[in-house]
Amino acid sequence: MMNIILLGPPGAGKGTQAKYITSVFGVIQLSTGDMLRRAVQDGSELGKRVKIIVDSGDLVPDEIMVQMISERIACFDCQKGFILDGFPRTLLQAEALDRVLKQKLLRIDHVIALAVNKEILIDRIRTRIAEAQHGEQRQDDDEETLKHRLKVYEDQTMPILPHYERLGLLTTIDGMLPVVEVSKQINEILLS
Ligand code: AMP
Repeated sequence: MMNIILLGPPGAGKGTQAKYITSVFGVIQLSTGDMLRRAVQDGSELGKRVKIIVDSGDLVPDEIMVQMISERIACFDCQKGFILDGFPRTLLQAEALDRVLKQKLLRIDHVIALAVNKEILIDRIRTRIAEAQHGEQRQDDDEETLKHRLKVYEDQTMPILPHYERLGLLTTIDGMLPVVEVSKQINEILLS
């Protein structure tokens, strides 16, 4: 049983690495972005409430997110462990998560942050947009929205890094390394 948080700006490769960790360690990937996009697609009450926020690249209110993730980690399929991909995104979410986990007698074992510089992220998102022309286009995948999402990350999500540093859980990896190299370093951290 191992519970992991993956942090990093949009386009840093969190999704890719979460899938790698899932395949090697058998833990489940919990992507709040995917959950929200599914809710929007399904046209549920929640989906209707959050669509404009998600499309604009702003953050969905903390209480909605905390409730969503609390319910999710209580499910049976999380018993072998989980990777949080896209949560927490604010200090308030991080602190609420600490409380929820404590209540459920669970804990986070590792927090892995992928560090990538802005120019590279903007390049990556351009590639993602070009590739998406053939497939499914995400509403929040345009350059202006990405820049906004990066700013939101810096302003609201970066402040949670010191929180996990203090708890002795944080390892930062250079996310500009090749994907396999990043995976290798993650592997070493998780086996340590
Ligand atoms: P992602 O796929 O993780 O980049 O998330 C896509 C969008 O979903 C974000 O830009 C936010 O609008 C919303 N979102 C995902 N996770 C969270 C969260 N933990 N808190 C607030 N908003 C979130």
